[in-house]
Amino acid sequence: MIPITVTKETYAEPVAACSAVGIFEGEDAKNLPEDIPSGVIDELKGLMQKKQFTGKLKELRSFTLDSFHHALVVVGLGKRQEYTLERMRKAVAKAAIFARSVKAPSLAFNFHLKDVDPFSLTTRAQEATVAALLALYRFDKYKTEGKERARMKKLVLFAQARDRPAIAEGARTAQPIAEAVMNARDMGNTPANILGPADFEEYARKRAKSNRLRFSVLSTRDLKRKGMDLLVAVGKASKEGPRMIKIEYIPSRKTRGMKKIALVGKGVTFDSGGLNIKPTQWMDYMKSDMCGGADVVEVVVAAKRLGLPHHITGIIPLAENVIGGDAMRPGDVVKGYGGKTVEIMNTDAEGRLILADAVAWAEDAKPDLIIDIATLTGSSIGHLGYEGSPVLGTAEKALEVLEQAGLDTHERIWKMPIWKEFEELIKSDIADLRNLSKPTGREAGVITGGLFMKQFIKKTPWIHIDIGNMSWFPEARDYIPKQASGWGVRLLILFLERFK
Ligand SMILES: [Zn+2]
Repeated sequence: MIPITVTKETYAEPVAACSAVGIFEGEDAKNLPEDIPSGVIDELKGLMQKKQFTGKLKELRSFTLDSFHHALVVVGLGKRQEYTLERMRKAVAKAAIFARSVKAPSLAFNFHLKDVDPFSLTTRAQEATVAALLALYRFDKYKTEGKERARMKKLVLFAQARDRPAIAEGARTAQPIAEAVMNARDMGNTPANILGPADFEEYARKRAKSNRLRFSVLSTRDLKRKGMDLLVAVGKASKEGPRMIKIEYIPSRKTRGMKKIALVGKGVTFDSGGLNIKPTQWMDYMKSDMCGGADVVEVVVAAKRLGLPHHITGIIPLAENVIGGDAMRPGDVVKGYGGKTVEIMNTDAEGRLILADAVAWAEDAKPDLIIDIATLTGSSIGHLGYEGSPVLGTAEKALEVLEQAGLDTHERIWKMPIWKEFEELIKSDIADLRNLSKPTGREAGVITGGLFMKQFIKKTPWIHIDIGNMSWFPEARDYIPKQASGWGVRLLILFLERFK
């Protein structure tokens, strides 16, 4: 993790190789910090008169000063009345990506000093730091040439003397959050020949151990003994058998509002589609079909490091959905944990199968709330593009908290209806359920995918988050790189912080 320091705002003596300062659209350059050299202010005024710089969001101008090794960067923040946490994150990301492009080893910025209602200075500092760290993320572990050599070595947050403790606190809490997102990205980006079910288990075990969290595994044999045949059916054609892992955080102090929350994450380490094999253009990135599971591991670790107030149990069913003599077939009928039978209509709708066993097992521990997060459907892209995740569930109160957490982290969610009629679409002619909607499989894909899990939960309030669209970005966007995004980690952390 890049070290972070908090220091007084100064431009007379550079504290970083690159210093970034924000200016609102249409505002006078004389509003910039006093000790910015007058040469820069004059030049900027000139540019603004000629409308060559207006302060529009993410507009960037760099100035070279004698006293700086690299640059003083002025970044547009857009209109003052439209400034939000997300706009601040975008401005920070813009500065960070610029600093990296000029190989600056350190970056200082002041964007968090501008008010954003109703957020505290600590929250603003935290979110600015998270955005900088996430914007600087790079996955080049498997390159032997062209690795980024000049890595950023220091981030500096500007502060007035009296604000230092608040800003330092934000910089401190930012680190476990950013680390959780970046680890989840690493896992999503790691190829399936390197991260199979056994490697995932090993990784999670190490994370649990180094953070002193409880950890346990149900092996393939355990799954069979318990009657978790859906998970077994999905994973049995792979050389690395299916398994279910559990990583658990119990707060050291029991507080009054403490809830027991089960987080269930889909962990398909590679999804070929099975016998209903996927077309070529949809298969290469299926190494990322475990992103929900990665999110869950990292959120539980972050919960411990941040000391969140709830008892959180992460459950991840792990399997590789491939083809072999032992593979499940379309038309097979398989019994899930708890006894319900499922007719497998399509072997590529495997996520809901493994999650059904997982949520049913999660309920045994009598949680107050179950949340599952999964790269469940391609239809999520059809619904919301790359702007937010469709969700559904029965936990009304928790959904409201999640929705607000989504707005504040900009990992937004959109609630889908769970009308009774949708459940008719997943009734099988010969078994209790089918894993694809009728008649064609295209009807209400996101909703029926989620409602399938509901059939395995007896009474616990539940939420399903479909990150099929958001887990993998075809193009980079501000502080989110191309490919695995780590989407959902920040959303769940803030939810757990706020849920009462
Ligand atoms: Zn699939």
